[in-house]
Amino acid sequence: MTADTVVQPRTGDARAGLPDRHGRVATDLRVSLTDRCNLRCQYCMPAEGLDWMPTEETLTDDEVVRLVTIGVERLGITDVRFTGGEPLLRRGLTGIVAATKALSPSPTVSLTSNGLGLKHTAQALADAGLDRVNISLDTIRPDTFEQITRRNRHADVVAGLEAAQAAGIAPVKVNAVLLRGINDDQAPELLAWCLERGYRLRFIEQMPLDAQHGWDRGSMVTADEIFEKLAPYVELSPADRDRGSAPAEEFLVDGGPATVGIIASVTRPFCGDCDRVRLTADGQVRNCLFAREESDLRAALRGGASDDEIADRWRAAMWSKLPGHGIDDVGFLQPSRPMSAIGG
Ligand code: SAM
Repeated sequence: MTADTVVQPRTGDARAGLPDRHGRVATDLRVSLTDRCNLRCQYCMPAEGLDWMPTEETLTDDEVVRLVTIGVERLGITDVRFTGGEPLLRRGLTGIVAATKALSPSPTVSLTSNGLGLKHTAQALADAGLDRVNISLDTIRPDTFEQITRRNRHADVVAGLEAAQAAGIAPVKVNAVLLRGINDDQAPELLAWCLERGYRLRFIEQMPLDAQHGWDRGSMVTADEIFEKLAPYVELSPADRDRGSAPAEEFLVDGGPATVGIIASVTRPFCGDCDRVRLTADGQVRNCLFAREESDLRAALRGGASDDEIADRWRAAMWSKLPGHGIDDVGFLQPSRPMSAIGG
């Protein structure tokens, strides 16, 4: 039997979960809690921001928790990551984290954030059950930070990182994007800074997901280049661990145990091992960051659908996941939603 002839499982099927027709099973749910952000990173959105999603279109806290519950209790989701936009702007975040952590079986709960304001909420989030946090920080230089994010908030991000660590959230990871001519000469100093503080740094290749459609394959900083920029300063050896579905290639720094990760989404895609599914802040399931189609769970939810019906709709959405993101295909089209409205 070929992958294409495998029949999609239905509710009650012993193979329940979120499989697709190519043999992958989604267990990692990324939930966007808002499309709004308090930074204006130039690789993400224009200086003036975007037309934000109207409040009535955004899922309520209860609706978010209901969908996450269906994902965890009926569809085999084991990891839930809250993102955005900026998830710390969501007033109900701590309650959503607590309700998610209380599910049975209890999933791993994590957050991707720019860290602004985290110094005020890190302890409450840890107490609510937040397991892990990824903070985005592309530079340790305040002037470069302002150039990239168009906001003078570098010190607040640093304070957020410190607060997460002090609250016992571990590991604290740092996500960085390198932009040519802006911070592509700063990889070694960012790594040294993270190593000194015990943060796990991961570089992410810039992807064609900006609202302005300004991404250019020719000028993006590639994973190979990032490696070459670090190599004169530290000895990098492949971390001796099974990468599984993890997006980052991990390297031991100077023999370890410290590591640095490089996420080569564009030049070395890992779609064959992808176990992710995304839920947007307005309740649309996306089976891929680069998907051009979505499935409307909010309409089902607000139309009175049962949990079983919503689970079936979610499964059907996953089943049609394409084998790869196709960035290198001649006919590649960037998704109509930018990263900030999908959930990074
Ligand atoms: N506001 C949160 C944050 O800053 O982490 C969560 C949302 S943000 C969209 C998630 C991650 O996506 C950040 O690490 C950000 O740097 C990254 N990102 C945004 N646009 C990107 C792009 N075009 N290519 C690669 N990464 C991008």
